[in-house]
Amino acid sequence: MSTQAETFEFQAESRKLLQLMVHAIYSNKDTFLRELVSNASDALDKVRLESFRDKDLEVDTSDPHVLIEADREHRTLTVRDNGIGMSRDEVQELIGTIAKSGTAELLQQLKDTKDGAAAQELIGQFGLGFYSSFMVADRVTLLTRRAGEDTGTRWDSTGEGTYTIETVDEAPQGTAVTLHLKAEDQEDSLLDYTDSTTITNIVKRYSDFISWPVRMEVERTDSEGETTRQIETINSMKALWARPKEEVAEEEYHEFYKHISHDWNDPLETIHMRAEGTFEYQALLFIPSMAPFDLFTRDHKRGVQLYVKRVFIMDDCEALLPEYLRFVKGVVDAQDLSLNVSREILQQDRQIQMMRKRLVKKVLSTVKDMMTEDPDRYGKFWDQFGQAVKEGLVNDLDNRDQILEIASFESTHDPESKTTLRQYVERMKDDQDSIYYITGSSRSKVENSPHIEAFRDKGLEVLLLTDPVDEMWVESAPEFDGKQFQSIAKGQVDLNDQDEDGSGTERAQQEQEFSEVLSWMSTKLADDVKEVRLSSRLSTSPACVVGDTNDMGPTLEKMYRAMGHEVPRVKRILEVNPNHPLVSGMRDAYGKNGESQELEETAELVHGMALLAEGGELREPSQFTSLLANRLAQTL
Ligand code: ADP
Repeated sequence: MSTQAETFEFQAESRKLLQLMVHAIYSNKDTFLRELVSNASDALDKVRLESFRDKDLEVDTSDPHVLIEADREHRTLTVRDNGIGMSRDEVQELIGTIAKSGTAELLQQLKDTKDGAAAQELIGQFGLGFYSSFMVADRVTLLTRRAGEDTGTRWDSTGEGTYTIETVDEAPQGTAVTLHLKAEDQEDSLLDYTDSTTITNIVKRYSDFISWPVRMEVERTDSEGETTRQIETINSMKALWARPKEEVAEEEYHEFYKHISHDWNDPLETIHMRAEGTFEYQALLFIPSMAPFDLFTRDHKRGVQLYVKRVFIMDDCEALLPEYLRFVKGVVDAQDLSLNVSREILQQDRQIQMMRKRLVKKVLSTVKDMMTEDPDRYGKFWDQFGQAVKEGLVNDLDNRDQILEIASFESTHDPESKTTLRQYVERMKDDQDSIYYITGSSRSKVENSPHIEAFRDKGLEVLLLTDPVDEMWVESAPEFDGKQFQSIAKGQVDLNDQDEDGSGTERAQQEQEFSEVLSWMSTKLADDVKEVRLSSRLSTSPACVVGDTNDMGPTLEKMYRAMGHEVPRVKRILEVNPNHPLVSGMRDAYGKNGESQELEETAELVHGMALLAEGGELREPSQFTSLLANRLAQTL
């Protein structure tokens, strides 16, 4: 007996995704089988683990396997496992919603993408899992029973707008997914998925390394022409990471990556390593080719899979890699850990700490090699993951130098490409002893900020640091290659030192000429600035605001506020350009007539303009605009 089937509607976003699938945006349709076998294999891992942890769980783990059954007559293909299965709620939650985080973004990006290959890459990195079945089937049913439960659940859908769920009394433990295959002639790209040779080839190609037997009934014709049918295991079950590097083909690595990452694209880089000695382990790590949508959201899963002597222990083992390498996927198989290690134990385990150290070094050195051997690939890597890696400059001080070595940044040297610090240092002028940088929210803002003027005039290269994380590390980065990092928007910059004709006397004279008007301005603007002084970083703008050497910059200040910290307002310094007519005009007016209401307003306007020029915010925008409007009216 079974209950009445309940009908549910797919969410709008899920429906759109399904349509994309059904209408063949993804050209390699065979991958549906990889997804189903991969899910079945995960379910077998899970039941093994759960029965190990919960001795009372009523479950049969005597022969864990995946069975593929083809029915030519009814044109169905069933992938069956005797793994963990799903409860009714789980079916509803896991299978009923395809729309994962990022679906909306994905659909938007797909809409903007005209290029078919790029669209495939996008959809591929998203991974459609179970739903890729609708590439080859026009109806899919799933029958499942969770280990330990009495009743099962049937899910059924044509992938069109609705699905049904019903509770059933009879169901074997585990999950069976049955595809009602589309008619062969419907789309030329479909193979005959009821043919055992076809299926065997696909399984060998995509899922050979799955550590559980994948079985299928195959037809064999013997020497006498006699045809028999028998069930055979069609995958080799060899753990890829345990095989010598030389014996593994690139394609095998790639398929394995797709199995563990749920990404449909090839990885950017494969790292296969083995450690021998007192603590033995093998690791097979991958750097994906694209950053996931949720790389910067709090609930991003991270960490690699942990195995102990070939036995799956856990997904997302955070203890093995630091957060800034959260995009690295892979498997670590340790020889000497206990099978029932917990996450808590792992965090404190000394051997795990040592493994983690080595894995981090290996990932960083792999990127370094990529930099020299394949700069284009490195560029792709850095575009996708650089922002995350830079978090390591704040959180992993032991590896800070290595991370600085593999980092690259935008700079005034080349608008098209980024520079490494090493390249920057090589281009440094003979008498330049610091690495100059400016931080801000976008390249165009910092590039046009007044602070940069004199550096540009003097041909001094400035790094343009525009990621939020840059603010965090650069203030505490000690040095690179013996050179200090120096903000061009902070402290005194004395570029005149580097002038050949040494304009020291001229500056002394200017200091004298301007001293009165500057100290008057300092008192008038005291609510907003610490000091008003002459600048040597300006050539065309009248003024800019700079920070005191050890003060927090305005962006960092804002970031801390946004995070809910109480930060005192940091007053900055107004620097004015003695060679600008507005500034020399103020000097003359003050010398002639002393202070006046008008001159005070001019001082406020100069300060406001300096803030706007760096892309900053005015404390009282309406006051600024009304001052400006009055002034403009006088010119008409
Ligand atoms: P993904 O595998 O990428 O998470 P799927 O849509 O393929 O996405 O599957 C969603 C979830 O449904 C899985 O994470 C798993 O929890 C559950 N699931 C799918 N297939 C099975 C199965 N054969 N046995 C048990 N659970 C399954």
